[in-house]
Amino acid sequence: MNVPLLDLKAQFATIKAEIMSAIEPVFDNQAFVLGREVELLEQEIAQYCQVPFAIGCASGSDALLLALMALDVQAGDEVITTPYTFFATAGSIARLGAKPVFVDIDPVTFNLNPDLIEEKITERTKAIMPVHLYGQCADMDRINAIAQRHNLPVIEDAAQAIGAEWNGQRACSMGMIGCLSFYPTKNLGAAGDAGCLTTLDEAMAAKLKSLRVHGEISRYYHRYVGINSRIDALQAVVLRVKLRYLEDWTTGRMRHAARYQAAFAAQPGLAEFVQTPTIPSNVRHIINQYVIRANRRDELRAYLKEHGIGTEIYYPLSLHEQECFAFLGHHKGDFPESERASQETLALPVYPEMTTSMQDFVVAKIAEFYSQTAVK
Ligand SMILES: *Cc1c(COP(=O)(O)O)cnc(C)c1O
Repeated sequence: MNVPLLDLKAQFATIKAEIMSAIEPVFDNQAFVLGREVELLEQEIAQYCQVPFAIGCASGSDALLLALMALDVQAGDEVITTPYTFFATAGSIARLGAKPVFVDIDPVTFNLNPDLIEEKITERTKAIMPVHLYGQCADMDRINAIAQRHNLPVIEDAAQAIGAEWNGQRACSMGMIGCLSFYPTKNLGAAGDAGCLTTLDEAMAAKLKSLRVHGEISRYYHRYVGINSRIDALQAVVLRVKLRYLEDWTTGRMRHAARYQAAFAAQPGLAEFVQTPTIPSNVRHIINQYVIRANRRDELRAYLKEHGIGTEIYYPLSLHEQECFAFLGHHKGDFPESERASQETLALPVYPEMTTSMQDFVVAKIAEFYSQTAVK
């Protein structure tokens, strides 16, 4: 049996007719950048995320960059974030000449550990940027309380977390600015690169809208030095079709995750080797990834691959150990939980269209791997 990590073709097959007919008018109109379809998408995303304002842009990475630019983060400033995330989180900070100040993760949720934030705040700190990793919100109560105490804005990197909730509040609605990615592997994926910003603040929304078009306030009049980071009408029409299915797809992922939890729990012998995710009752984890910790992770991964099962490691190297961040002067051991996670975690297939028998196969092969090697 072949079980890929993600099967976008299976998803496309279910919506092909709608997507193709949504695309045609865009070509007929020959208006490809921003425009009416983008405005409608922005309204629908704002509604879905329970925020008043959404501003489309070219990618999730650009959303992070624009958010930092809107907060006037500059060379020499510091932004607190996690070292256990996709590169863009810290890359956007460094891109502006600012310094990513890493704080280790909570080993249970893989998110920023609020206990360790305050000791890293200095007079140069300009913002706190938590990531809602894998689709599970960081502890926004405690992060917001710390931010308030120090009068710092919070940028939510919600690239993996559209529709996730913390105590009933949606990701992107809890900080000053929320950042979404529509990269094809996210729960809501475009036909290429696209992203979005959200905010509760009208003046901030206007600034973000300006920054994505080179800081224009009216045609060819520039208040800021912005960038070109617009969203295409083609992406907007595709995303508007897919947004109608997002709740169904997300609940499908959540159902598969619950099923994995039960299947692993039903094999008590596995508990010694595999740790399944802990999902507290106050969060809605939208399962962009279903990630286990596994003993002898790399061997397990190779074994699953041999049997046609796709997995991925998010992420194999903690950001403080990346070559490009050597200038930060960190060493192995500086962020032990992030480093341990990069050695132990493995994402299993969890896309909405996967079948029950595929899931059973994945769990059976994992059990087989450990039973075979246990006797050796
Ligand atoms: C995907 C992702 C991004 C970047 O999004 P792109 O649209 O690929 O630029 C940023 N942060 C996190 C946590 C992500 O997973």
